[in-house]
Amino acid sequence: MFDKLRSAIKNLNKAITERTLDEKEVSKILWDFKIALMESDVAYEVVEELVSKLKSEIVGNKIHRFMNPSDYIKERLINIIKYIFSEAKQLNVLEMIKEKRAMGEPFIILFLGVNGTGKTTTIAKFANLLKKSGFSVILACSDTHRAGAIEQLTEHAERLSLKVISQKYGADPAAVARDAVLHAKSKRIDVVLIDTAGRMQTSKNLMEEMAKITRVVNPDLKIFVGDALAGNDAVSQAKEFQEFTNFDAAILTKVDADVKGGAALSIVYTTGRPIIYLGTGQSYDDLAKFNVDSYISSLFE
Ligand code: GDP
Repeated sequence: MFDKLRSAIKNLNKAITERTLDEKEVSKILWDFKIALMESDVAYEVVEELVSKLKSEIVGNKIHRFMNPSDYIKERLINIIKYIFSEAKQLNVLEMIKEKRAMGEPFIILFLGVNGTGKTTTIAKFANLLKKSGFSVILACSDTHRAGAIEQLTEHAERLSLKVISQKYGADPAAVARDAVLHAKSKRIDVVLIDTAGRMQTSKNLMEEMAKITRVVNPDLKIFVGDALAGNDAVSQAKEFQEFTNFDAAILTKVDADVKGGAALSIVYTTGRPIIYLGTGQSYDDLAKFNVDSYISSLFE
């Protein structure tokens, strides 16, 4: 009987306590977030897309009269970023290796990325982590192009007391990788970590070489190594490797020297692949599991 009256009072209450976010106000606040994200080195195209998506979702929304609209919009932005990270499903590499070991097979990981990003160092750090987790590991030097690449990987292997499979410079990188896999199978080694070239005459040659190694050894995991300090370049590299190699996950290096932090969001957004570990320094133990929550809070600090 009183339904009509009750709902009229409710509506009146709402009109008093709520207000609508208009386009002008939203645009002004989003502009500030846009600048902040770009200053954090999130790639321009990613910022543009995020902000326009957010804008279309919130213009016309009702918020409590006393709520700060900037807080409301920030919360929505954080939720969108969380969603992007949750869509790129995290991988538990150690568990994946255990499963393959149970089948009596070596787990093969191909590391991809351009020269100088920290790929070789990351392989050594990863080998160190695997050793400490109780797995046996060998390294394969499938970068047969860059002068010093074989010596560099060999030096890491010696320091970590690991075997490295290599041939001479100019050898077929896929053949080196296959040798390493065969060796692992015959010696029952749990994991093969393959270092690859990061630069060739053309990017097409490089991508074809990666595709050939992939065909020959059929890796269980392809990991892209990106440099956090490279900003927008890291994103275009990730996109190119993604297009040609369809990698499974990424490791971001040099985050200890990166005060901005935007590369992780840009890479996950543009490739849809998770960041699994972060390189946090130059020593073997400087490899940390990626944590979305602490990443997001550092982005908005
Ligand atoms: P590659 O050419 O991609 O194999 O790169 P390297 O592994 O040779 O690394 C290039 C440089 O980056 C070396 O001086 C490494 O010590 C350094 N580096 C690699 N990872 C990190 C990291 O997480 N933090 C810092 N500060 N330096 C790193």
